[in-house]
Amino acid sequence: MGFSPSKALAQAHQFKLVRTSETRNTCPYCSVGCGLILYGLGDNSKNVRTTIIHVEGDPDHPVNRGTLCPKGAGLVDFIHSPNRLKYPEYRAPGSSEWKRISWDEAFAKVARLMKDDRDKNFIAKNAAGATVNRWLTTGFLAASASSNESGYITHKVVRNTGILAFDNQARV
Ligand code: SF4
Repeated sequence: MGFSPSKALAQAHQFKLVRTSETRNTCPYCSVGCGLILYGLGDNSKNVRTTIIHVEGDPDHPVNRGTLCPKGAGLVDFIHSPNRLKYPEYRAPGSSEWKRISWDEAFAKVARLMKDDRDKNFIAKNAAGATVNRWLTTGFLAASASSNESGYITHKVVRNTGILAFDNQARV
């Protein structure tokens, strides 16, 4: 019929990332702390929630220079997992049910429990009378993917309370 599709077929392929926005982040899995680029789809309008559709290693990041291990390479599934915890939950003593609570409620509850436990169990001096200022009945779990600065501040706050049991999720 005189019609040739060759021009239409030669049209440039539309890559899936072409309309995405890029956000830099850090892999949350281990203490290597690889840099990531998250590709989000959405036009940044007020009523549009951006969806992460792709995750890659950040080629400009000094730690991983664009590479990711299998865990980091599978992060997009972690982001969209139905089991992902996105807000605080509380299970009352003796209950089998987790109940959603606000961040303010969670902070107040944690602070209250920590204060009460520290008041009850803080050890100022050991048996020989030496000042030790220990608090051994509460532990603190921080994040391995924090920056140096937030790690430094977290360390200062936790050690100032006297807590000795202090670790991050990369070692658990
Ligand atoms: S990509 Fe792998 S090696 Fe890098 S921080 Fe994540 S889990 Fe660790």
